[in-house]
Amino acid sequence: MRRTDAVSRGRVTASETRGCSSAVRLPGWNRAGVCGLDNSGNSCYLNAVLQCLCSTLPLVEHLLSQDTREELGRSKCRVAEVFARLLEEMWLGSSSSCAPVEARSVMCSILPQFNNYSQQDAQELLLFLLNALHDDLKKVAKRQVRSSMPQPRRAGNRNRAPAAMESTTIVSRLFEGQLGYMTLCMHCDHHTHRTQTVTVLSLPIPTDITKCSIQDCLSLFFEQTLLTGVEQMLCSVCGLRRETAVHTCLDKPPEILMLHLKRFGCKGKNQVKLRTDVVFSPRLDLSPFLSSSVQNASYSSYRLYAVVNHTGHLNMGHYTALCHNALTRSWHCFDDSAVREVQDRLVQSAHAYMLLYSRKPFQKPKILGL
Ligand SMILES: [Zn+2]
Repeated sequence: MRRTDAVSRGRVTASETRGCSSAVRLPGWNRAGVCGLDNSGNSCYLNAVLQCLCSTLPLVEHLLSQDTREELGRSKCRVAEVFARLLEEMWLGSSSSCAPVEARSVMCSILPQFNNYSQQDAQELLLFLLNALHDDLKKVAKRQVRSSMPQPRRAGNRNRAPAAMESTTIVSRLFEGQLGYMTLCMHCDHHTHRTQTVTVLSLPIPTDITKCSIQDCLSLFFEQTLLTGVEQMLCSVCGLRRETAVHTCLDKPPEILMLHLKRFGCKGKNQVKLRTDVVFSPRLDLSPFLSSSVQNASYSSYRLYAVVNHTGHLNMGHYTALCHNALTRSWHCFDDSAVREVQDRLVQSAHAYMLLYSRKPFQKPKILGL
């Protein structure tokens, strides 16, 4: 997806290298967490993703807390430090927009596939970025676990912390869920259960219709499938490949649910963009898709807080983000550096590409200096 309009790739100015553009807040515009991001050459996909993360309040609060900031420095977490500095600028800065120059440069150094000026997929970037952040923050988790353990008398690994404690970060706590797959041999009824950690649910869109609901897409994703022919699975009881029914459900619903609509598909040999109007509402009930062990109202109700939109064609498109600000309790549309407030009813559109929901409603932001 490439953007066609020409974007200046001129020399980086001194103000840009400091991470903040010379733009000043418009009169009366003093909204923390509402800050446009300059386009540095086909970077609308990056800007849309950064806006969504900037409105993920528990992530922002964690990264901007004094304890975390100190730990980031001690543990040499470059990715997280740069990201935290950008969030600080977006939440506490005085400009109506800033240039995420440092964030882009760090991203390009760790994710070379994004080190060019061509348009990329926002969903792919979001996953890569969260992974990079998670890997970086694991250094803090390791340091904290080790410093809380008693000092070993001799060299050895008796005091080694459980690996799980060292590999949990704010990213995994917020964004990771677990899918459960129940397989059933259609010959002997033998069933197995396996799980998979998941960060984004990539939802198919029903074909041949112009309008559907997000529940339709979820139903299609969680639909029971029958594996036949070459897809048959090996049954450990039968010792043979058998027709197998697979039932998918959510074993562990994530705190932050990220839904990705598979709009870029194939029709025959041609790549096409599916323009189906997928209707979604501010509330989403996941209870039909939860496994029986987590069938509880507090697990199943989600609130929408961010949307990534994609307009245009497969190779000539543009990304924008719609985010709910936890402080002003209103929605804003972020089109690179341009920001405007939008009415709740305008959040729904046929351009939605990613939807971000939170299981817990965001409270008044607790950010130092706000
Ligand atoms: Zn069997």
